[in-house]
Amino acid sequence: MKEIILIKNGELVLKGLNKSTFESMLIKTIRRRLRDLGKVSVKSAQSTIYIEPVDDEFDFEEAISRVSKIFGIAAFSRCAALNKDMDEILSVVADYVRPALQGVKTFKVIAKRSDKAFPLKSPEIAAQVGGAILSAMPYLRVDVKNPDIIVSVEIRDYAAYIHAGQLHGAGGLPVGSSGKATILISGGIDSPVAAYTMAKRGLTLNAVHFASPPYTGPLAEKKVKTLLQKVAQYSGDIRLAIVPFTEIQEAIADNCKEEYFTLIMRRMMMRIAESLAIASGSKALITGESLGQVASQTLPAIGVTDIVTRELPVLRPLIGMDKEEIIVISRKIDTFETSVLPYEDCCTVFTPRHPRTRPTIEECAEAESAFDFAPLIEKAISETVYSRITRDGEVI
Ligand code: ATP
Ligand code: MG
Repeated sequence: MKEIILIKNGELVLKGLNKSTFESMLIKTIRRRLRDLGKVSVKSAQSTIYIEPVDDEFDFEEAISRVSKIFGIAAFSRCAALNKDMDEILSVVADYVRPALQGVKTFKVIAKRSDKAFPLKSPEIAAQVGGAILSAMPYLRVDVKNPDIIVSVEIRDYAAYIHAGQLHGAGGLPVGSSGKATILISGGIDSPVAAYTMAKRGLTLNAVHFASPPYTGPLAEKKVKTLLQKVAQYSGDIRLAIVPFTEIQEAIADNCKEEYFTLIMRRMMMRIAESLAIASGSKALITGESLGQVASQTLPAIGVTDIVTRELPVLRPLIGMDKEEIIVISRKIDTFETSVLPYEDCCTVFTPRHPRTRPTIEECAEAESAFDFAPLIEKAISETVYSRITRDGEVI
């Protein structure tokens, strides 16, 4: 028996976007994400996107898992595709829906017939299919008002489709429909969640990571790549820039007042990230900051960091979230276990003993003016190393 995936128009997130642009973006994404699983046809007809394996080699279970991570799809159905023949439908239906009806007490069958040449009318189809399910699973009851699960039978142009219940999609908007933005990614819990959260709103991602060898080791970079690889399952490929940050950090440590170390470092990060982002066509920066989480994320501290960006808005999707809420998402997208592995971040290398939590912009600018950072910023940008992170790993 052949299985396919159906995504109906009502299950797409069409708001605010031109419907046909949206649909073609989505179809392109689906094709790209399923390409390596075998031959598959992805097409749109009768207000529905059909994902149909072309040969038996196609890895259908993996396709289900991947489709559940494509933004722009609120729900989808996994269906049996049968000949439009009532005997065939009745012989298959009970076994096909049995796993979905496990632990369920009541059900209802809804039949739809868009092919009006089919000999039975919808209520008759529903009655016969319901009868077949009841005789195979006599402990079930039909409840037309409030069923635990709905079994659907659809007689369409080319085939008959059966499914029991819908699967949750990833929601959000199709990746790319909102443009491109650059995530400042550390190895922590927050920034991968921030990346996922903004990709969900339709952004394609670039990433910037600041590395301070030898204070930070190759494992820290590997960790960032693993995290991005997990985010890439949702966002698609991510272009990663690794910025050598050691000299700048040493210059801060050698020349500036200690209580401003972290703030000045964060200002440098924002300047460099903005410059790289503009060069790559990004229209915003993204960080994993959450108000009050640490000394550098108090409102005055955020003000002092925010002011150095000149052109791009800084998106902080986690700003109002508690750590617990962030962790729930990081577990869902499977970044948590990697994020909590021990590593040295460049932020932790030169942490001041008494960071300023209520800095003013003037004081911070003055502490920063103790050294001319411009040449070091230029140098770090010119020595930045790029790679592309895919769902399968790294492409240089
Ligand atoms: P995270 O869990 O994302 O590391 P955090 O709570 O540890 O965040 P900070 O270390 O203050 O917070 O960093 C705040 C934000 O700055 C991060 O969410 C990230 O966007 C950015 N950031 C911090 N360190 C780096 C780094 N080494 N490279 C790139 N961005 C960084
Ligand atoms: Mg951090």
